[in-house]
Amino acid sequence: MVNQKRKLQRKKKKQQQKEAKQKLAKKTGLYLQIPDKCGACSAPFDKKSKEMAFTWKVAVYEEEEKVYLFCPVCYNKKSKEKQDNV
Ligand SMILES: [Zn+2]
Repeated sequence: MVNQKRKLQRKKKKQQQKEAKQKLAKKTGLYLQIPDKCGACSAPFDKKSKEMAFTWKVAVYEEEEKVYLFCPVCYNKKSKEKQDNV
């Protein structure tokens, strides 16, 4: 009976690993769906621009399965608002 139990546990672990992989795939899939404009002011985001890639902020909302982009201006505004609330 002990062996049976062990087998079950191993099966469970495998299942968990599988789910973790699927989650990761989902996450990376999300990152591919990066929008091409700012989520607040709709300023266009140039995916080829290295400068933009460094300065723009990506916010991932896993519950909504959505990715938002914020230009530096909006991001600064947002983080300021947050600080004011604290
Ligand atoms: Zn913006």
